[in-house]
Parts: sequence; structure tokens; C-alpha cells
Amino acid sequence: MTLSELLSNAKHAVVLTGAGISTLSGIPDFRGVGGLYSRTDIDANKLFDIDYFRRDPSYYYRHSKDFLYNLDEKEPNIVHKALARLEEKGILHAVITQNIDLLHQKAGSHKVLELHGSPMEHYCMKCGRTWDFETIAEKVRADEIPTCDKCGGIVKPRIVFFGEGLPEYDLSEAEREARKADLMLVLGTSLTVYPAAAVPELTLQCGGQVAIINRDPTHLDRYACWTARDLKKEFEALEI
Ligand code: ZN
Repeated sequence: MTLSELLSNAKHAVVLTGAGISTLSGIPDFRGVGGLYSRTDIDANKLFDIDYFRRDPSYYYRHSKDFLYNLDEKEPNIVHKALARLEEKGILHAVITQNIDLLHQKAGSHKVLELHGSPMEHYCMKCGRTWDFETIAEKVRADEIPTCDKCGGIVKPRIVFFGEGLPEYDLSEAEREARKADLMLVLGTSLTVYPAAAVPELTLQCGGQVAIINRDPTHLDRYACWTARDLKKEFEALEI
């Protein structure tokens, strides 16, 4: 069985993506070697902690400047591009992602459900005013800490921080798609973080198949109809 065969046999394919697909675009996996959690100069738990952010948003902005506010320099890779193409052909119905790097949208995917939110939009925590990524990124790159120019409130990215609720719409849509899917393709995630890890479980519970491409084994490998390890190799061989 090949990836091309799996996808051409599917009637409602959905994909779940994680950090492993963005490493091909030069974005280190937060939890991997060279990622945020391995850095000694940044405390990743503090960086994305909502209580800490409310007290001192400057910690987040100063330390995420070099890996979040330069995302416009990163380009989608062969996997992001193939997924956009599969959606256009009507084969893929949704991209559910744990990533906050905006590369699916940049590749041209339309239905992207972001379980951990997104830095695409920033908002004032006091009055609700919103700004796009580029406006805020310009300030952050100039070492400014953005504040609301209307009310002086704290400006926060719409990324889900520790201690915050999940984006309701994206999560419920992801669950709906997971139940409907006859094929859930899991790409570049070790399925250790919930709620993402529960997404392919829903597909299995509803009688759909799960296929997994990830560098390391996952706890769902033994329930999968197909597994592979090398994303780049599989997508280079994709004939759709
Ligand atoms: Zn405001």
C-alpha cells in the first residue's frame, strides 16, 4: 500500500499535523532537539503561561521575537503544498493542526482548524480591538512591547496559552471532521498532547481508518492501517 493508494481510496480524508511537518521548513520542534524546551535561556512554560503573560507580557514578546515573529520568512514545504493540492482536488476535507506557524494557510489550504490557536490575529485583552500578524511583528522586531493604542490594554496573540481554554469552534469542527473521516492521516506528531491525540481516536471509534507518518512510534501505531517514518520520502513519492 502506498500513500497515493490510501488517499485515492478515501472518500473523506482528513489530516492531523504536528511540529514534525514544519521541521522541513526549518522550524524546530518545540519539544525536540534545538527546540524551545531544550533552550536554557528561555523558560517555555513561563513563556506561554497566561497568568505570567498578564503580569508581564514583555517576557513573551522579547523571547518569541526570534522564532515566532520571523515566521513570515519561513516557506511551506512539500508536505504543506501537497495537502493544499489534495484539498483543491476534493480529496482532503480538513487540515487539523497543532502548529502555530501559519504555513498551511501560506501553502493555500482553506479549511485549517488550529487546535492551539494562531498568531495570525492579536487582540486587546481589555477592549477586544484586533491587529494582524504583520502589524504586531513589525513592533516586536523593533523591540517594542505592543499595547492597545485605543485603551492601553495588553495585546495578546490568539495562540492558546497554558491556563487558557481551547478554541471552541476549531475543536468542535475538528471532532466533527474526525468522526466523519474514513481516513485520518496523522503527520509529524507523536500524539502525546491532548486534545490533538484524541482526534484520531475518534476516527477509529467511528469505524474510520488511521494512517500515520511520524519519525517516532506513537501509541496508535498498532491500530493504524498503515505507518511510515519518513515524511519527505513519502510525499516525494506521492502521485496525486
Ligand atoms: Zn484596547
